[in-house]
Amino acid sequence: MRKIVIIGAGPAGLTAAIYAARANMAPLCIEGVAAGGQLMTTSDIENYPGFPRPVTGPELMQLFRDQASRFGTEFITDDVTRVDFTHWPFKVWIEDRSIDAATIVISTGASARWLGIESEQALRSHGVSACATCDGFFFRGQDVAVVGGGDTAMEEALYLSKLCSTVTVIHRRDKLRASKIMQERAAGTPNMKFVWNSKVLQVEDVDQKTVTGVVVEDVATGEKKTVAVQGLFVAIGHEPNTALFRGLLEVDENGYLRTKPGTTQTSIAGVFACGDVQDHAYRQAVTAAGTGCMAALEAERWLGAKGV
Ligand code: NDP
Repeated sequence: MRKIVIIGAGPAGLTAAIYAARANMAPLCIEGVAAGGQLMTTSDIENYPGFPRPVTGPELMQLFRDQASRFGTEFITDDVTRVDFTHWPFKVWIEDRSIDAATIVISTGASARWLGIESEQALRSHGVSACATCDGFFFRGQDVAVVGGGDTAMEEALYLSKLCSTVTVIHRRDKLRASKIMQERAAGTPNMKFVWNSKVLQVEDVDQKTVTGVVVEDVATGEKKTVAVQGLFVAIGHEPNTALFRGLLEVDENGYLRTKPGTTQTSIAGVFACGDVQDHAYRQAVTAAGTGCMAALEAERWLGAKGV
């Protein structure tokens, strides 16, 4: 039986691995085929403390992983296909192979929803982003657009309005889904504009490998126009990666794993969750790492109390 099995290897899972390894728990980290998480598709990171010079997402994740390896974390680069937390020891499977675990740390993250158009994907990290806190700084003094009408979109747009010359919100309906207070803040922001009832058809200019504008279509009239911007922030929500745990662990109203406030404990004692899979509010590498540390410490204490 492994003392601790960590599922997922973004900032949360790898930090849990570093702490668990240094506590002599010989962690097994099942990192998944998409190891590294959302930072693997991020270019320069300028807000991770301790890195005064920009570091790319993949570089930062490699450093996290090296640090976890150095203290003896064992990695399996495969996806967990099934779990059973109804009995102790807990069980996780990778296809036919089963592994017994005294504690589990879930750090499977979340995935940004994308519009799903070709030019959007071609220009990701070249002017198209899903994180204003991460990338807004690169667009200081420029014109940008935000797609979406929920709280995330308003939060991203308000954040960008403090950095950018103008922020144009493109929304597919004539009403925002965002909470009243966010709507009021948005309406009171002079450099924020709205393009209503419009869907994004295309991001220009793939040939130049940089964003020069967004082609939108009015859903009522079919009229097309180009909004000239240097950046596009897609803010149409995130999906927590919880498919494996459906029906087993409690989730909140947005589908994120529910943890006891101030802890990483899920609805099953001995199973902990950290990082974006349990956090829709902050979603930063540094907060994910913080909760990863909490999860390892809590797992260690839980095992100690159990006498394992
Ligand atoms: P939401 O699901 O609330 O909103 C998604 C928005 O994107 C909607 O306006 C939706 O349009 C639009 N959208 C979805 N798919 C597409 C698409 N394919 N093309 C164009 N537009 C699309 O997600 P959020 O991430 O905004 O929020 C998730 C939850 O987190 C909410 O409960 C929210 O309140 C909460 N949250 C709270 C915050 C806070 O309190 N500070 C900050 C961030 C999130 P439509 O309206 O037409 O469906």
